[in-house]
Amino acid sequence: FQSKPTSGRHFLQIPGPSNTPDRVLRAMDYPTMDHRGPDFGRFGKQLLEKLRGVFKTSQPVVVFPASGTGAWEAALANTLSPGDRVLMCETGWFAHLWQELAGKLGLKPELIETDWRRGADVAAIEAALREDKAHGIKAVCVVHNETSTGATSRIAAVRKAIDAAGHPALLLVDTISGLASIDYRHDEWGVDVTIAGSQKGLMLPPGLSFNAISQKALKAAEGAGIPRSYWDWRPMLAANAQGFFPSTPATNLLYGLDAAIDMLMEEGLDNVFARHDRFAEATRRAVRAWGLEVQVEVPGEYSSVLTAVRLPEGHSANALRATILEKFNMSLGNGLGRLNDRVFRIGHLGDFGPLQLVGTLGGVEMGLGAAGVPHKPGGVQAAMAYLNGNA
Ligand code: PLP
Repeated sequence: FQSKPTSGRHFLQIPGPSNTPDRVLRAMDYPTMDHRGPDFGRFGKQLLEKLRGVFKTSQPVVVFPASGTGAWEAALANTLSPGDRVLMCETGWFAHLWQELAGKLGLKPELIETDWRRGADVAAIEAALREDKAHGIKAVCVVHNETSTGATSRIAAVRKAIDAAGHPALLLVDTISGLASIDYRHDEWGVDVTIAGSQKGLMLPPGLSFNAISQKALKAAEGAGIPRSYWDWRPMLAANAQGFFPSTPATNLLYGLDAAIDMLMEEGLDNVFARHDRFAEATRRAVRAWGLEVQVEVPGEYSSVLTAVRLPEGHSANALRATILEKFNMSLGNGLGRLNDRVFRIGHLGDFGPLQLVGTLGGVEMGLGAAGVPHKPGGVQAAMAYLNGNA
């Protein structure tokens, strides 16, 4: 189903789905087992246990066969009631979509806007909570890694702001594109529901999504009034206690998840994060050497998962991506929402090494030339010098 024959491997450098390592593909290439049988129970129990390590939690993590959007809905539907006010930070397109979903569930989102060039405005969150003396706001929703802009929000600081305001709102965090690529600590950061997906840092194909759940969120679930059935945590947690699922799990993706967690733990999460930081810095150096601008303006909020690059006025990011796909067989991320055609996004996440990065940046540099985008040469050189320790 490729549009035309190509030689060499396709470069999938969108910010998720990321490349699936061979070891994970091999792990999924195993007969689907009886999901109600004893072997599955043993497998499920140990998998759910080791999954907690990735979220840095000792609390339950549930897995839905769904894309990340499903886990967004599960987080809201299990903890809130129609008419509840929720404070949401519009860091970019994904925060915008989550807010739309909240509205459709009958919640009342209150937006803290940004210019899509930074993470969540922590001071504005604290101010809004301090003003809410009657505690009408029931949850604060933040996207940890905004995949549309490449901005990372400071979740530990958001927690501090909620505590400083003395406000009882739940903290719900989307780390769909952050988990297992950049530092994340469900327990230490006092997150009530963490939302994640399989197709980014976990290096799996799309199809699994996750909620890590605090005790406070479990308690909220008892009184939550949004109708829910498939997304209900209660039957899921009851079945999970024996390693099972209330409906048919995505068995082969779970085999892949098991292998992916082993790979992450063998490398060591801190090493995984440091690798992403290094590739992100090399990418930004390339962008600057080209004379282009990264979308994010706050250095402390640069994402190590992806870099969104702004095109000079009058030039089309979509035309550039089309040229790069056509000439060099590489997919880059498109600009989303108001950034459509204004930025392209380079994914440097998941199963990714230095030579893949150099190849990716080489494809971009050649594409800038081929598409007639004004730039200076030397971006790849700057990235290589940094990767080689000679920057
Ligand atoms: N949130 C973020 C930060 C994302 O990056 C994405 C998808 O890329 C989503 C939510 C939506 O997830 P999905 O497309 O898997 O439903």
